[in-house]
Amino acid sequence: DRIVGGQALEEDMYVQPSVRPQMITDYIGQQAVREQLQLSIHAAKMRNEHLDHVLLYGPPGLGKTTLSNIIAQEMGVTLRQTSGPVIEKPGDLAAILTRLEPNDVLFVDEIHRLSPIVEEILYPAMEDFQIDIIIGEGPAAQTVKIDIPPFTLVGATTRAGLLTSPLRDRFGIVQRLEFYSEDELAQIVSRSANILGMDTQLDGALEIARRSRGTPRIANRLLRRVRDYAQVKGNGIITADIADAALNLLEVDPLGLDKMDRRLLELLIEKFESRPVGIDSIAAALGEERGTIEDVIEPFLVQQGFLVRTPRGRVVTQTAYRHLGLALPEKFED
Ligand code: ATP
Repeated sequence: DRIVGGQALEEDMYVQPSVRPQMITDYIGQQAVREQLQLSIHAAKMRNEHLDHVLLYGPPGLGKTTLSNIIAQEMGVTLRQTSGPVIEKPGDLAAILTRLEPNDVLFVDEIHRLSPIVEEILYPAMEDFQIDIIIGEGPAAQTVKIDIPPFTLVGATTRAGLLTSPLRDRFGIVQRLEFYSEDELAQIVSRSANILGMDTQLDGALEIARRSRGTPRIANRLLRRVRDYAQVKGNGIITADIADAALNLLEVDPLGLDKMDRRLLELLIEKFESRPVGIDSIAAALGEERGTIEDVIEPFLVQQGFLVRTPRGRVVTQTAYRHLGLALPEKFED
């Protein structure tokens, strides 16, 4: 349960529902994604048709679920939510699909985790709005085609690379969500603080933004923790000093790195002496799952330039040494 992890934690339940943007105009940042969706939604509504299928990918907590909500709201249809691992059998998916109303949005989180037999059902559903149902068993079994209402599949994944190409090719709109800038996150923090009735100064919001790893979910979570600190140790107002003190106490450093990130960088520096290291060796040495390192820890370290992925393995950069306050080894000093 990392406080700076992008994945949802139970404590997020207390802050997120009320601050989740409902309409596209409340959705801050991700300008390219927003513009493309606004255009496509407008066109679909003019034609009175369903919106093309949408694939959203990127690290956790950047707003994929929020966007799927917004798409349904803007289209004026109902959102049905499910996720890859929850749909066990083809029949489970068939039941969901046959119950949709025309133009509804079906959100499938972690779509890369659909089993191959379930995925097979999706192909004709996405393409022709039909599903193949097998009736009977053995040699007497027959395939019957059933029409389903036209719908929009919104698939979300942190691992676009794990999607099979037949599935990926069936999405008309494919958008990658990027980490947010400090200014965008500060706007998100100020907006959430407003909704929650907190007293926040702009430099306080910026301090939280700077340490939120480009991720709105983390920004909202840190805001809540800083508010507690402001109430107990200050006069309730979230200033830069209060935010700084609160986040230092939580061991979230000025760039948003926590103990886990520092452990990973120190491991590469000290144990592996800054040589390229394969992801499996890192996972074994840290006692973490490979997927957690690839999805949750690494993307931000790579984006910040602390780590590079090379064909020979992961390599720490000079930036990492500087950030950790370590002397550069000779190989960097030219
Ligand atoms: P996961 O893949 O883990 O489900 P996600 O990408 O679907 O994550 P969301 O649940 O959509 O992430 O977003 C997390 C929280 O961040 C939301 O509750 C919302 O309050 C906030 N948020 C996300 N994107 C934005 C945005 N663009 N503007 C304002 N708030 C946002």
